[in-house]
Formats: sequence, C-alpha cells, structure tokens
Amino acid sequence: MMIEGLREGIAQVAFVDHHVHAPYKRGHEISLDEFRRPFTEASIPAVWTENIQTLIGYRWMVRELARLLACEPNENAVLAARNGMEAVPYHRLLANAANLGACYADDLFGFGQCYDIDAWAEMIGRPVERVLRVETFVEQGYAACETLDDALERLTREIASPARRLVSLKSIAGYRSGLAFDPPSRVQRQSAATAYRELRDSVLIPPKGRPEYSALGTFPGRIAAKPLVDTIVWTALEAAAPKGLPMQFHVAFGDDDIIMTKNDPTLMRALFAHEPFRAVPLVLLHCYPFQRQAGYLAGTYPNVYMDLGLTIPIVGPGAATVLAETLELCPTRQLIASTDGHMEPEFQWFSIFVWRWALTRVLGQYIEGDILDTDAALSVARTILHDNATRIYRMGT
Ligand SMILES: [Zn+2]
Repeated sequence: MMIEGLREGIAQVAFVDHHVHAPYKRGHEISLDEFRRPFTEASIPAVWTENIQTLIGYRWMVRELARLLACEPNENAVLAARNGMEAVPYHRLLANAANLGACYADDLFGFGQCYDIDAWAEMIGRPVERVLRVETFVEQGYAACETLDDALERLTREIASPARRLVSLKSIAGYRSGLAFDPPSRVQRQSAATAYRELRDSVLIPPKGRPEYSALGTFPGRIAAKPLVDTIVWTALEAAAPKGLPMQFHVAFGDDDIIMTKNDPTLMRALFAHEPFRAVPLVLLHCYPFQRQAGYLAGTYPNVYMDLGLTIPIVGPGAATVLAETLELCPTRQLIASTDGHMEPEFQWFSIFVWRWALTRVLGQYIEGDILDTDAALSVARTILHDNATRIYRMGT
C-alpha cells in the first residue's frame, strides 16, 4: 500500500484524547510567551523567553500551523493570524482539522483559570468527560475535613458516587514524592496524619504574604510528603477497584519539581503486585525517557497501559523513534494516545498531528518490511488512537 493511503486511513480515525486539560479561559489574544509556554513545563521564564523557540518540535508546530492558517511560517505571523480569529471558530478549526473525538479532561489543572468541562465541550463541539486528580482534590478539602481520616472518607465518597460522572482518576505523585509507592503501614499512616494536620493548619492559618495558588511550584497546603501521597494513592485505588475505574499516573518528564530517577515507572511495583488492584487499569502517562521501561511493564502486567502524550509533540520528529521503541515491548492493545493539551488549544491540535505522522511512518515501515499487512497496520492505528481508550474507560463508541 502506498504511504498516502495509510496516511488517509489514519486521518479518518477520530482521536479520543484520554488525557487533556481544558484551555485557559483568559482572553483569546495571547502574547508570544504565552503561545510558546505549552512546550515546556519549566517555571523559569528564560526557558520560554529565550530558548523554546529554537526547539525543533516547536518550530515544526509553527510551520504546520502556518499551513493551516494560510500565513507566513514564522512565529509572529502565526500568532497574528490566530489572535485575529474569534475564539470559538479558532478552537473548532483546530478540533476539526485534528479529527478530534471525545476528550477526558483532568479539570483540576490550573483550577479556576481554565474553561469548565461543559463550556469547553460546547466550544469544541465534542463530548468532554471528567478525570479526578486525587491529590488536588484532597488539597481542596482542608476546610471541610479536619483530619486525614475525614479527607480520605471525602475522597472515597467522591470516587464511589461522584458529583459528576468520572471516567478515571489521576495521580500527580510523580510531581510530588515520586513513584516508589509503599503499601500502607501503621507508621506511614501516623506520618501521613501529622503531615495532613500541618498542611491544613498552614492553609487555614495562613502566614502573612501568602503566595497565590499556582499549578507549578509551591503553594500552601501542597501535598508532597511521601507517606501522605502514598496513603492518598492507595486509598484512591481501593475505592476505584470495585468499579474497575482506571487511574492515570504522571510518569517521567514534566516540570522542574521532578527528580527523574524517582519517576521511573518500574518503581511502582507495590501497586502492580497488589492483587486487588488488578481490577484497576493503571495508565502510565508521558513516560519519556522511560518508554521502554513502561513498555516492559505493559508486557508484564495485564492491567498496565501506557501513553506518550506530552512526549509526542515535544520530541517532534523524535516521535517516530519513541513510538517504535514503545512498540518493541508494549502490546498495541495497551498503548493509548493522548495529547496532554493544556493552556492553549494549539498544543492539542499539534500533538494529534504528530501522533498521526509518527504512526504513518512507523506502520509504513512495518508494511514495507512485510511485517504487517495494510489492514493490520490500519487496525493498529485505530486501536491506539480510538478503541483502547473507549474500551479501558468504558465509554463505548
Ligand atoms: Zn496532564
């Protein structure tokens, strides 16, 4: 089959974005810095004021977006063209160009600064389902929950009978204390209760000059003590198990909070080894540069799934290599595609563009090498872009 036919077949599969965040609801017109910002989770401004514009993946996005907007392929022309459009037609244009399907959104990222789920769904004309970020949910409950027991009860209640339908849980333990989860113990629970009490006090009795809440960096009440993080994650998994509700984990690269060696997914062994958690699909997000480790885990544990969201657009042309390395050990029914779109809508659109590009290249090579036939290659693409998400999150089609 000609590569053109494969590309067309892949383009026709609606992309179910199983991990994404609604964009910021600030005014549609943005600055160059704000336009570059989704390409790094750094917190030091020089990263996006001086360097990110030279990243190959970013430069590729500028060129592709210039094609879509029919303007000159440079940052300023592209920014002027996108700022010159109304917000809703622009978001729709990107969603349609990407052949975007349903979105599953973690709505506690940049809480209060982003479109709520219904407003975003209306804007893009696609269904948007809710993913609950468990650590942030506990941080939001200090006023209502006096003790750790109260907080865990509130979390368990929300998972068992959520205020709004949930398709998944999500943990950012990787950003906080790393992925080497310890199973519950008496000592862990005592330390967790103490940490909770201290954090709650720091929020309810704020010191002078309290900084604003920020998605990146520190803020009062930020849960980072390992015994507390591990207790929250374990409790959430216990609540998810009877429903078979999946749980997503931030894995590997991300912002400057991360110690990379603590974010290797093979450290999560206590969760994989705990028999009752086999009922919970454990979804490893991002994974770079541990995509091979994640692939090994997917090939070893039936309830482990992996994703390359965030990785795919940022590594740009490296996406084909990363995808090929992933498929060395990860069975295709355990690889799910997301964008990790955040802040502005271009990142989600470009991420889907690169996913399709990388699949076309890698699957095209398999066809050329007589490793897969055309029908099998297209079925692999459909599985990764669409079917795995609807099956794992039980959303049907
Ligand atoms: Zn995310």
